[in-house]
Amino acid sequence: MNIHEYQAKQILAKYKVPVPRGRVAYTPNEAVHAAQGLGGKLWVVKAQIHAGGRGKGGGVKLAKSLDEVEALAKTMIGMTLITHQTGPEGKLVKRVYIEEGTSIKKELYMSMVVDRASSRVTFVASSEGGVEIEEVAEKHPEKILKLTIDPAAGMFPFHARKLAFGLELPKELHGKFEHFMNAIYEAFMDTDASQLEINPLVITEAGEMIALDAKFNFDENALFRHPDIHDLRDPDEEDPLEQKAAKFGLSYVKMDGDIGCMVNGAGLAMATMDIIKLYGGTPANFLDVGGGANKEKVGEAFKLILSDPNVEGILVNIFGGIMRCDIIAEGIITAAREVNLHVPLVVRLEGTNVELGKKMLASSGLAIVPADNLGDAAEKIVSAVKRKAA
Ligand code: GDP
Ligand code: MG
Repeated sequence: MNIHEYQAKQILAKYKVPVPRGRVAYTPNEAVHAAQGLGGKLWVVKAQIHAGGRGKGGGVKLAKSLDEVEALAKTMIGMTLITHQTGPEGKLVKRVYIEEGTSIKKELYMSMVVDRASSRVTFVASSEGGVEIEEVAEKHPEKILKLTIDPAAGMFPFHARKLAFGLELPKELHGKFEHFMNAIYEAFMDTDASQLEINPLVITEAGEMIALDAKFNFDENALFRHPDIHDLRDPDEEDPLEQKAAKFGLSYVKMDGDIGCMVNGAGLAMATMDIIKLYGGTPANFLDVGGGANKEKVGEAFKLILSDPNVEGILVNIFGGIMRCDIIAEGIITAAREVNLHVPLVVRLEGTNVELGKKMLASSGLAIVPADNLGDAAEKIVSAVKRKAA
């Protein structure tokens, strides 16, 4: 789960990570009040969307007067901001963050991820931070430093020293840098984060180290331990279908094809998508209804798939282990009747009570195409969708 920059900075501040002072605003008027409250002569107006690259897209601007703050907030709030991370459709800006301006001497890059290769929390840092970091990574990979942390032993002062030397930081900043690394490490571990990116981490003219930008990602499977973080969820930033799915405990990811899939088990769902591709089709979604789904859940999953206007056919591939095939069949039949099914539906059932399930589908009066195995099912749905298009 993603949160906004200003929320990320509020969390970081709790862990004593130095961040600029700032206030969020939903209207130009609030933006002016925020700037007044902060005081000073220089402010930064920052569009709050769940995507990076805002600086280059016009979503981060400096203001030298309250009038400028107001004018910038006016243009930003309500604008559709397009960055290299939003996709061509962009994202609607609904709030801005007003920060005190910082005079920057140097921009560094600092991030933490759960690295799959080493199975460890890993720091990634570079002396060449800022808006061109992707280019640095591509053209000068040697300038990207990595440091993995042993989960049992945790962080030691030598870790910070190693990175400080790697980044060629001046000696007098090593203490501040160590504090910074310890603080973000604690924040990361405490919140069950999966990613934290601070780009830029700046050295100011006054010799401070400050997180000027922050992007936090959290492990959704651990969110139950962090109700306060869960509450930061911004529904405006999430795919409405994926949100609906989450409400019913379904794992749904929208894709751009036309064959809707309903499967139980993430591995089987992946395999189903692969086989659809193998037979020349394209999946419209990943959907894992889980092992313990009931009739209602199957019905909701079915409606969810059909609410995607690109869906031209559905493939149901269920292995009834804990979940019985007759329950699945009942869910499918009820849902298909309820939504007035208008696209071809291929069903492959296997497992507990499979004969009963198949019988129920066959006698339902619905135009359901039964399939015997995964290959057969994929072939049938792909050709049904092609016939429909022709
Ligand atoms: P991003 O483009 O979405 O990553 O947004 P950032 O928050 O990283 O801002 C982009 C760039 O704006 C930074 O790399 C800085 O160069 C610049 N910037 C942000 N805040 C300030 C500030 O307070 N003072 C100055 N001078 N530049 C800033
Ligand atoms: Mg940034």
